[in-house]
Amino acid sequence: MARVFVITGPSGVGKGTLIRSLIARVPELELSVSATTRRPRPGERDGVHYHFLSDAAFDAKVREGAFVEHAAYSGRRYGTLRSELERRTANGIPVVLEIEVQGARQIRRALPDAVQVFIVPPSTAALQERLVGRGTDAPEEVARRLRVAEQELTARDEFQYQVVNDRLEDAVDALEAIVRRELGRCASGAEGAGS
Ligand code: 5GP
Repeated sequence: MARVFVITGPSGVGKGTLIRSLIARVPELELSVSATTRRPRPGERDGVHYHFLSDAAFDAKVREGAFVEHAAYSGRRYGTLRSELERRTANGIPVVLEIEVQGARQIRRALPDAVQVFIVPPSTAALQERLVGRGTDAPEEVARRLRVAEQELTARDEFQYQVVNDRLEDAVDALEAIVRRELGRCASGAEGAGS
């Protein structure tokens, strides 16, 4: 069974940028494409950034048991499709999930061997700057995401690993070290089991 890496932490902490840099350094990793009921932002493509679903279609998938985890976030729904995960792990491909905290907790229960990393902002002010600076959300949405972030930050100690995203390069170095260590552990475990 290939490894599953959960990267969580508040919106605006830089999970997406960190994961892109991580995958550039460890190309065997693949990112699972989540489903969501939120509207695509300019430049986002269906099936690439997210599977954009209507509420009814999302509900149908919940009923079918198509999600490994799903959660409501800022009035919208987000979920990890079993198919996205399993077609990779079944082929030995390590997968990265970029998800919020409630989903990460569900993964902890469903897949206890998944590696969980919480990305911590250097400060709340830095988080606000990033959320405003990236210009993807309206001011009310930024305010809502900051309120959720306060909550999410209280959960950081639940997570096996924490990485502070202050200087991007340092954070990518830390994340890469975690991933390489865990991938190495998996490989040596498999050798042990075979001998
Ligand atoms: P955004 O709207 O900014 O793309 O995402 C909002 C939040 O939902 C982010 O914290 C993001 O990591 C999280 N998210 C994205 N996909 C999933 C998913 O499949 N499941 C869960 N639980 N959260 C997700």
